[in-house]
Amino acid sequence: MAERVIPLFDHRLKTRRAAVPSDHRGPTGRLVDTRGRVLRDLRISVTDRCNFRCSYCMPKEVFDANHTYLPHSALLSFEEIARLARVFAAQGVQKIRLTGGEPLLRKNLEVLVEQLAPLRTVDGRPLDLTLTTNGSLLARKARQLRHAGLQRVTVSLDALDDKVFRRMNDVDFPVADVLRGIEAAQAEGLGPIKVNMVVKRGTNDHEIVPMARHFRGSGVALRFIEYMDVGATNGWRMDQVLPGVEIVDLLRAQWRLVALPPSSAGETAQRWGYADAAEQYDASLGEVGLINSVTHAFCGDCNRARLSMDGTLYTCLFASSGHDLRSLLRGDGINSGSSDDDLAAAIGEIWEHRGDRYSELRADTSSHQGSGRRRVEMSYIGG
Ligand code: SAM
Ligand code: SF4
Ligand code: SF4
Repeated sequence: MAERVIPLFDHRLKTRRAAVPSDHRGPTGRLVDTRGRVLRDLRISVTDRCNFRCSYCMPKEVFDANHTYLPHSALLSFEEIARLARVFAAQGVQKIRLTGGEPLLRKNLEVLVEQLAPLRTVDGRPLDLTLTTNGSLLARKARQLRHAGLQRVTVSLDALDDKVFRRMNDVDFPVADVLRGIEAAQAEGLGPIKVNMVVKRGTNDHEIVPMARHFRGSGVALRFIEYMDVGATNGWRMDQVLPGVEIVDLLRAQWRLVALPPSSAGETAQRWGYADAAEQYDASLGEVGLINSVTHAFCGDCNRARLSMDGTLYTCLFASSGHDLRSLLRGDGINSGSSDDDLAAAIGEIWEHRGDRYSELRADTSSHQGSGRRRVEMSYIGG
């Protein structure tokens, strides 16, 4: 069947102005949503631009020369991002991931990292500060990022075979440059490094075992991500999803694997460690992860919020609308900009009303929530 690409109208979708409840008393340090999930993790998308055109994320046919990106004035400044991040930390966030688009395309990103690095959790610990990148600029940027205070990176890489990789990024970018970026990040101590591989059946599933062989014993944790129906432009079809259980079978045919416990609450990956002849986990060989976001919904403990580059807050990767925090930050011509306490209260109000569980509903075949709705694009909120 031919690939189907749905034209993009406005991937930014509608937003409503976030509201400040009248009776608030500043940050509470812990926000719980309607399903008992505590806010812990904030993903900040710093740009809507990318130098790759991965067909599952920013297909060329849609993100072409006619596509209009946000003007610079619409983007949150580094100071605005850092201010919001501080407020989120005061509301219980413990981990911040910078993403995009391609985050390393945002000029002087290390300056933002410098502003985020001193932030502390409510109990006084440094935030877990990390970045997801396609790796294309990492060799050049790793040292600056490390010196600015970044702790670790996740690099996306879908194949080792140069031809397959060039086809998947669709801009003819060579795999060797990404591998150099991973080496540079390792040399700078930006670890433990994770590598994310989106698996699309019929496109790169033959690269699963070579990728695992390459990273086994290298200190890098490879994670396989099921191809997801994010956004509305990638023409997603269920038959292109290779279920994580099949990936584990492929790996088990080659190596001994033992299940490992989740490394943190809300962990999205099922972890498997390479084992020795006595079936014991051998840390020197490392681990792989399976992010089975389609076949195994993990909404039950989803503790993630997503902030777009223009200051819209989304409480689900599959949201069809978001909450505008930028007008609270900046004021809207009538109201002046809000205080930190007001911002904290607005964020609290949003999280405490949250009930998202898209993946669970998608898995429930009696529900049609999954298909028809327009949804925000991955490149806008960063995965
Ligand atoms: N450009 C950076 C990168 O590729 O790492 C950061 C942004 S990208 C949107 C974040 C992650 O989302 C990447 O690991 C990418 O592979 C993943 N991703 C994008 N579209 C996806 C899809 N349809 N299904 C599963 N993962 C997807
Ligand atoms: Fe760009 Fe990352 Fe999306 Fe690929 S997955 S198009 S690298 S934002
Ligand atoms: Fe979280 Fe939404 Fe993904 Fe469920 S579908 S795990 S609520 S982001």
